[in-house]
Amino acid sequence: MEAKWFASYPLRDEIYLIDEPGQVASFLIIGQERALLIDTGLGIGDIYEEVKGFCSSEPLVINTHAHLDHIGGNHQFKEIAIHEAEAQCLEQEVPKDFLQSFIKGSCFSRPFPAGFNPHNYRIIPSRASLFLKHGDRIDLGGRGLQVLHTPGHSPGGICLWEEEKGILFTGDTVYQGVLFANIDGADMEAYSESARSLATLAPKVKKVYPSHCQFILNNNILLELDQAFQQLKAGRIRPNRTIDFFGKPALEAWFGSFSILLPA
Ligand SMILES: [Zn+2]
Repeated sequence: MEAKWFASYPLRDEIYLIDEPGQVASFLIIGQERALLIDTGLGIGDIYEEVKGFCSSEPLVINTHAHLDHIGGNHQFKEIAIHEAEAQCLEQEVPKDFLQSFIKGSCFSRPFPAGFNPHNYRIIPSRASLFLKHGDRIDLGGRGLQVLHTPGHSPGGICLWEEEKGILFTGDTVYQGVLFANIDGADMEAYSESARSLATLAPKVKKVYPSHCQFILNNNILLELDQAFQQLKAGRIRPNRTIDFFGKPALEAWFGSFSILLPA
């Protein structure tokens, strides 16, 4: 029997984690009136089919940002929301040579699904139907999430905050692993401010659901990230080493469960 591409897990509170092997998590949140899918993965497997098993109607998709590993399945859905600063990015073709180097350089913990040919890998462009900004509330019926604009990893990066349950979905702004403040569109100062505002929220946060690495964290990571940026800015901690990042040098500073890459 063919191995499944996605691995999906029910979490508490009618939330499903949809794990793309070794890469990225999407989250499906079920409300009384509609469902919300946070990110759509790489576009390698059929995320529409995967999601259909858990909700009766088509979900609203919200992209935490427009990087390729969060938008690959967008084209399968009708309603797509993203922060207004990155809406245009969805409509642009991702260069083929970049996708080829991405797919060759990535580790996948399961074989590709039947019918997928990595040589033809493409992110099919999509179009936003809803433009988000800081403070917007997404009502799902009986529950809702607030949009928090948290730029730094990317200009239109958002977190989604379900205050009633104390759950924060952090996308690529916060996770355990290598955090990218060095890539195109990243901004160290904005990242630091976003980390500060999330640290302010931390006392109310019970669970942090990030897009990569460990998918369920507690609120300590929010305080740790804020402290890390403060230490970097004050020069109390300096990057430990220079690494080669896709042909460009980057500085890496380690802070226990995560590191931050900065432009060299
Ligand atoms: Zn990203």
